[in-house]
Amino acid sequence: MSGRTRARARPERTCVGCRERAAKVELLRIVAVEDACVPDLRGTLPGRGAYIHPAMGCLDLAVRRRALPRALRVPGLDVKALRRCVEQTEGC
Ligand SMILES: [Zn+2]
Repeated sequence: MSGRTRARARPERTCVGCRERAAKVELLRIVAVEDACVPDLRGTLPGRGAYIHPAMGCLDLAVRRRALPRALRVPGLDVKALRRCVEQTEGC
């Protein structure tokens, strides 16, 4: 991990679960709405966003290390809706 080059054409984000960088399009954007994590499937919700691979492994990692509340600056986030969405995304 050296340098911080920014390729504008292919934006990258860091997954809050496994901490690997990936193309933004491969990650699921998450925003906090009230006290819940909401998957922003169309990438249009306003507010602070966090990015994660749509994979259970990454979600579990993110939950275990409390990465989402930290990234979204909302303590005690509910990830139930997000978990359901990842389950569905992963299944197909
Ligand atoms: Zn990941």
